[in-house]
Amino acid sequence: MSEEQLRNDIVKWGRSLFERGLTAGSSGNISVRLEDGYLTTPTNSCLGFLDPDRLSRLDVEGRPVSGDAPTKELPLHFAFYEQRPKARAVVHLHSAYATALSCLSDVDVTDAIPPITPYVVMRVGRVPVVAYTRPGSPDIKPLIQKIAGDHAAALLQNHGPIVAGNSLDTAVFAIEELEEAAKLLILTRSMSVRTLDPSAIADLNQHFKLK
Ligand code: ZN
Repeated sequence: MSEEQLRNDIVKWGRSLFERGLTAGSSGNISVRLEDGYLTTPTNSCLGFLDPDRLSRLDVEGRPVSGDAPTKELPLHFAFYEQRPKARAVVHLHSAYATALSCLSDVDVTDAIPPITPYVVMRVGRVPVVAYTRPGSPDIKPLIQKIAGDHAAALLQNHGPIVAGNSLDTAVFAIEELEEAAKLLILTRSMSVRTLDPSAIADLNQHFKLK
């Protein structure tokens, strides 16, 4: 896919996520890995109104080459790219239900999203919670590096979800699925919930193993 197409896809998905209320104001950021660098959404930009020509273009070392200044949450994105060589895109949102889940003190930090639907198993996998750090702080990088080899998705404590994917479409679909699963968990929080049993999860992993 050409860089021009990828620029247009970032704008398209940014608008779609914004219009569906999955990210508000200037929150959230998207990046894509190119053959010779990266494209990211600019700092303080609203995902609903991106300009393809003003996206931040970085070289392979992550240094800005052209466009507006990149999102300050870049350390998050690079930690995933370094640990997941096949990852081509990273999406981070402040979507309401996944962020709500990231604020709960009794969530299992090794497995925040129990296997309540086959789709969360197939598209998202196990989701750890990463300890709080100031947004944009490089302190997040070693924390993400620890989990990103084994997990394509994480919840940043008291902050929001982040997902890496082998394409931008895959990353967006996965973070949407994570948000839906978080919504179901919040909606059923005081109810007795039946999760998928281990044999069903093993069967899903055998047929749809996340890479
Ligand atoms: Zn954020």
